[in-house]
Amino acid sequence: MAACIFCKIIKGEIPSFKLFESEKVFAFLDIQPLSQGHALVIPKFHGEKLVDIPDEQLAECLPVAKKIAKATGAENYNILQNNGRLAHQLVDHVHFHVIPKPNQQEGLGITWPAE
Ligand code: IMP
Repeated sequence: MAACIFCKIIKGEIPSFKLFESEKVFAFLDIQPLSQGHALVIPKFHGEKLVDIPDEQLAECLPVAKKIAKATGAENYNILQNNGRLAHQLVDHVHFHVIPKPNQQEGLGITWPAE
């Protein structure tokens, strides 16, 4: 879709920090990361909500999210996909967030609970 920023990212018309690309899937770092390594995994097929994406386009997204989560080294992470404004969807092209949680000692610089 011409006006969609994520379609433009796929086409290279908007720069991104690309992590992965295949025939059906594209993944890149989020521009406003909630944590270090926050990434977005998107089907190349343009659709606003999950129900708009054919299953065969979606099928590869979760394995890619899994690979990226593993690559961050985070033991804890969220895979998140928002649908609709009330669910905090801002970009109308289906995307899966991969949001690593810093490992406790690295992220906070402390060990808690104290030993
Ligand atoms: P949503 O709230 O689930 O729709 O999340 C949209 C995400 O897209 C947000 O985390 C934004 O920071 C991210 N985002 C918006 N524009 C860009 C961009 O141009 N590059 C990378 N990430 C973007």
